[in-house]
Amino acid sequence: MADKRDYYEVMGVSKGASDDEIKKAYRQLAKKYHPDLNPGNAEAEAKFKEVNEAYEVLSDKDKRARYDQFGHAGVDPNYGAGGYGGSPFGQEVDFGDIFNSVFGGFGGFGGRRSSNPNAPRRGADVETTVTISFDEAAKGCRKEVVYNCVSTCEECSGTGAQKGTSPKTCPTCSGRGQVNVQQRTPFGVVQTSRVCDACRGTGKIIDNPCKSCGGNGRKKKQRKIEINIPAGVNTDQVLNVSGQGSSGTNGGPAGDLHVYINVRPHPIFERRGDDVWCEFPLTFTQAALGAEVVVPTIDGKVSYSVHDGTQPGDVFKLKGKGIPHINGRGRGDQYVKVTIEVPRNLSSKQKEALKQFESSTTEKNYTKRKSFIDVIKSLFD
Ligand SMILES: [Zn+2]
Ligand SMILES: [Zn+2]
Repeated sequence: MADKRDYYEVMGVSKGASDDEIKKAYRQLAKKYHPDLNPGNAEAEAKFKEVNEAYEVLSDKDKRARYDQFGHAGVDPNYGAGGYGGSPFGQEVDFGDIFNSVFGGFGGFGGRRSSNPNAPRRGADVETTVTISFDEAAKGCRKEVVYNCVSTCEECSGTGAQKGTSPKTCPTCSGRGQVNVQQRTPFGVVQTSRVCDACRGTGKIIDNPCKSCGGNGRKKKQRKIEINIPAGVNTDQVLNVSGQGSSGTNGGPAGDLHVYINVRPHPIFERRGDDVWCEFPLTFTQAALGAEVVVPTIDGKVSYSVHDGTQPGDVFKLKGKGIPHINGRGRGDQYVKVTIEVPRNLSSKQKEALKQFESSTTEKNYTKRKSFIDVIKSLFD
């Protein structure tokens, strides 16, 4: 008893803390120690209980005033009087209800399992990956995704009881899911509560469990759904499909499905952000003379005039021919990088023509080469 901690210390706030500060501290601590997030952790459960007890007092103007004046004895009639009840108020406090009243419909958190076995709980989020082509990512598509989740059992509609029967209220705990236990100690009779063994905290007994789900009311299932994939998605982006995760319990909402996108590479296009890059091989004659060429884009073929004297590595831009911006208007651009293919397996006639051509060229035809040779000369002369 002497080691019962100060409520302000429990909450980690000063004695003069405002209601908002106390509420904020409670939210943080209650989340940290919530039994749903610390399954099987007795220490966390004890802390959760302690935090709830402190909040119950400090959030109530009258109780807080009495506590400030008289300490624990001011709010706990049994404190220091030989009999200390597990609950400081002589009656059971439903921590789950306090928790719910502060958090409201906070997703993912139901009431405390043992105090309210029938509280609605949101289903878990699940994830899956879908692989689509470069084109499908660029244009958007509808795609079937397959994933595993926990679904309400169709056979028993989630009750866990065999068709035609229904679960009955647990007679041991009257449906509360927990039972009070009295223990004699040197300080007197200590009353605590623990999870009801008969119903394992659910408050219900199922005499004839559903054969399909073994009485769980939910079972693992593979689900297939079609989803819309918007134009412009890219690898590692995640689409959230709300309400397609695991089913909730006791009427709680279903979780969400997170779909991870994987885009297959394209044989000639490469994506950089929303721009599309590709290489385009020209013959050296096309590059020298200029040419009308047909360039592939994600929209199909477009023609483009390559000007004379185009060099390998030159890049030309096709404005607005890139990937659509996801969740927005407009598109990226396409960039085409020129490569030059040097002809091979020439006939003697072709070789002769090239030699004639070569002998006709002057420094004027090769400005880059000329300046390179000039630099070499200056280095060695
Ligand atoms: Zn079932
Ligand atoms: Zn029970």
